[in-house]
Amino acid sequence: MPIRIKHLGLTFIGTAAILAGCSDKALPPQETATPAPSQIVTKDRKPAPLPPVLIDGIYTQEIAILKTQKKILAAFETIKSHRDRNNRDMVELNEIPAPPFGEETRAKRVAKMLREAGLTNIKIDEVGNVIAMRRGMSGKKTIALGAHIDTVFPIETDVTVRREGDTYIAPGIGDNTRGVIVLLSLIKALEANDIKTEHNLMFVGNIGEEGLGDLRGIKHLYRDGAPKIDSFIAVDGGSDDRLVYGGVGSYRYRVTFKGPGGHSWGDFGDANPHHALGRATTIFAERAAKVASEGPKTSFNIGRIGGGTSINSIPFESWMEVDMRSGNVEKLDEMDAVFKQAMIDGLAAENAARTRGEAITVEVRKVGDRPVANGDAGSPLVQQALAAMSSFDLEPKLAISSTDANIPISKGLPAITISRGGKSAGAHSFEETWTDKDSHVAIQIALLITLAQAKYVRP
Ligand SMILES: [Zn+2]
Repeated sequence: MPIRIKHLGLTFIGTAAILAGCSDKALPPQETATPAPSQIVTKDRKPAPLPPVLIDGIYTQEIAILKTQKKILAAFETIKSHRDRNNRDMVELNEIPAPPFGEETRAKRVAKMLREAGLTNIKIDEVGNVIAMRRGMSGKKTIALGAHIDTVFPIETDVTVRREGDTYIAPGIGDNTRGVIVLLSLIKALEANDIKTEHNLMFVGNIGEEGLGDLRGIKHLYRDGAPKIDSFIAVDGGSDDRLVYGGVGSYRYRVTFKGPGGHSWGDFGDANPHHALGRATTIFAERAAKVASEGPKTSFNIGRIGGGTSINSIPFESWMEVDMRSGNVEKLDEMDAVFKQAMIDGLAAENAARTRGEAITVEVRKVGDRPVANGDAGSPLVQQALAAMSSFDLEPKLAISSTDANIPISKGLPAITISRGGKSAGAHSFEETWTDKDSHVAIQIALLITLAQAKYVRP
């Protein structure tokens, strides 16, 4: 339930927890003379060290046994044979635009592709996630594999795919159209080889991973009272040797400075929302750079700015969108406090500088909240994934990132994000590419992890 707190022309809109944080907790003292970012001595800007990759022999053996099973080896060959079909499906799917909050058409096509892949129990849920179930022998647990179907790109973006040899060029092609293809190929391999599992498998083409989608698809799957998901495997990574086992958290805000507006000459002397925003961003950028210069990696970014009527009007509003991230919750909260104080101080400075008229106000609305998620490198899911990767002669590396897995991991539930295979480059850019280089490997790895988690049933 959003709560508003209004005082001194300042409104914070966000969750109760955040507001408690901003109103109850004393803000850290701000130094009056903040050094410019260039003067700050940068030390230890790297992320907190990741644990070494240690794989328990039990899991190495478990994966090795799976790799001797005839049906699984046959499934590996089936996956290889999908190459051309996978690439055709990838192009078709990518050319259906799927901006955050506009995923419906692509969702319907994904549902159809899941049916074509051999599944029958398919639905699109209340928020727009495509969900397909494949029943296990006992069905005691449910192992979910998910790939987000949304992109960062607005609806009008040209998503036509260009091909140069084995390289496919289009916005969203790797991130994450290819991820969806990994799920489809894996399902077809299970079906073609009649592979049975002890536990249920759930395949999700989820919405709302990117931008202001704020993980809403996955948040819905893990809402209070939702059917239990025992493990979650997100397919949304760029390289086969990288395993995301923890989550980078982020807070995002839309800030709006508001005033009466007026004529640039006739009303000169009134407080100006753009000037207030400028003051606030300068204060924020300087103080935030200091926070980011120490300890675990923490980032901040003002991504969009807008407002105003004309060159000779004092604007009635000035807005911006701000994103801050860290893998460490204390650092993220420190950045958050610095940000809020900067908005207060920027507003106060502009109001103090006016020579006439009313004071202007600011509204700080929280539009994104991705929890920091501390992963467990020793959990069976992480261990099975590492063992599966190693079995393909890869040297796995643990990583933290901001993915759908943030939600379950932050709730203490097993989740990872694995590779979509091939070679991805330029994600979130109009020249994004995905190259079909050994793309079957990631699908085979995903299959092994799935069968280890869902317990392969020998014929
Ligand atoms: Zn993605």
